[in-house]
Amino acid sequence: MKNDYEAVVGLEVHIQLLTNTKAFCSCTTKFGTSPNMNTCPVCLGHPGALPTLNKSVVDYAITLGLATGCEIRPFSIFSRKNYFYPDLPKGYQISQYEDPICYDGALEIELAEGQKRIGITRIHIEEDAGKSIHDVDIDTLVDLNRSGVALLEIVSEPDIRSAQEAYQYLMQIRQIVMYLGICDGNLEEGSLRCDANISVRKRGTEKFGTRTEVKNLNSFRNVERAIEYEINRQIELIESGGTIVQHTMLWDATVHETKVMRTKEKAHDYRYFPEPDLVGVSVSEEWMQQIRQRLPELPLARKQRFIEQFGLPKYDAGILVDEQSLGDYFESVVSKLSGKTEESYKLVSNWLMTEVMRILSERKIPASEFELPAEFIAELVDLLVTNTISSKIAKEIFPQLLTSNKSPIELVKEQGLAQISDEKLIESLVKDILSQNSENVEKYKAGKSNLFGFFVSQVLKQTEGKANPKIVTEILNRELNNN
Ligand code: ADP
Ligand code: MG
Ligand code: ZN
Repeated sequence: MKNDYEAVVGLEVHIQLLTNTKAFCSCTTKFGTSPNMNTCPVCLGHPGALPTLNKSVVDYAITLGLATGCEIRPFSIFSRKNYFYPDLPKGYQISQYEDPICYDGALEIELAEGQKRIGITRIHIEEDAGKSIHDVDIDTLVDLNRSGVALLEIVSEPDIRSAQEAYQYLMQIRQIVMYLGICDGNLEEGSLRCDANISVRKRGTEKFGTRTEVKNLNSFRNVERAIEYEINRQIELIESGGTIVQHTMLWDATVHETKVMRTKEKAHDYRYFPEPDLVGVSVSEEWMQQIRQRLPELPLARKQRFIEQFGLPKYDAGILVDEQSLGDYFESVVSKLSGKTEESYKLVSNWLMTEVMRILSERKIPASEFELPAEFIAELVDLLVTNTISSKIAKEIFPQLLTSNKSPIELVKEQGLAQISDEKLIESLVKDILSQNSENVEKYKAGKSNLFGFFVSQVLKQTEGKANPKIVTEILNRELNNN
């Protein structure tokens, strides 16, 4: 039954901009200040207080628009979106309605079957409301620190066909805005908020079904779960003879259900009209050009490049580009390698994905705040690739790199850790071990082949882990299997 239906999803994503001050006043956007401290007559909505547009907000809007292939409107205006809410002191939100600053863009998402293009209908500027706090005691408290903070709303075309695609789309948006440095990408703290519009239709039909809009999706898991849930609910309702009503729903993350919040509001409910207190926004060709030149390489393009340029597996490339400064760190290490081979690149990737990322997540810091010089990892990998040290030794000296301020080469020299690759020496060690363990040699020859590992470990133990394991294995093989 489910297979007869196809889901149609469009997302509205709000991102909170990382500007220092609010959209229309000079109050700080600093997080964690005492309630209502970051306010002034403008963002408190006092009568007669006049808004002034923060130029950075426009800069960031153009930046995102260009990064997602949008057209940038040379002249756009603000509108008032009127509604009542306790945390909206003016009784309206300044937004853009008919002529959003950016429109007609798209971004690529990654799916198992390849890339897919999701259209972006529009990106517009608006201001945030304050916050109602319901859980302190019997009263509801209002904090207006967030009132007037700048947001961009990104509206997608209804091109998304499943919960997984919605997840990937949101993931791309998050990575892009973080790469652009315009939003911190934190879903849990509300810097990125997502509403999902969902409908279903019979496969093979063109006409869209009636949609519902689900709000309150404050984590990637909730986005996926809520959409999945709502698709199934709609299919079951239709199949049992019911009809979908265009409701605004809330996702209840504790019981994993969508619940009806209100019937869907229509644009005319908001009594949109042009904001009389602000002039329009003009964007010159020159300004766009400046921003275009500053655009960084975007995450998906960088991932492709990592795969092609360094021969990395897709999985590695995805992890390394996920956070921009980790990708930068990787490139910095690679540029300092003496041996520029795919084997070395893969080793660098392994070190970053294991040891380095473990430390970063323990300390909750980005790679840009990691103090270990990129040279040290490059040197460590060079020592490994040239078989100067074993991977066991490399793992042992890694923590010392963090505490001693000494380079891998210095540590290896100082502690005599260089790998023993001298065949004559290893051969004599192997012979000693075998003669000291003649009983086990008998057993091995009688068929207990798993004793091989025991002999290897004995030789390594003798040399404190410094014998080259490959050579040890070769010589042991020769000694045990030939006589
Ligand atoms: P509203 O302001 O009423 O929420 P919008 O025009 O902003 O309406 O559209 C909201 C979102 O709904 C867009 O992302 C759009 O792609 C999506 N959408 C429109 N129609 C449908 C539909 N039938 N099914 C699913 N999503 C839809
Ligand atoms: Mg909407
Ligand atoms: Zn203010």
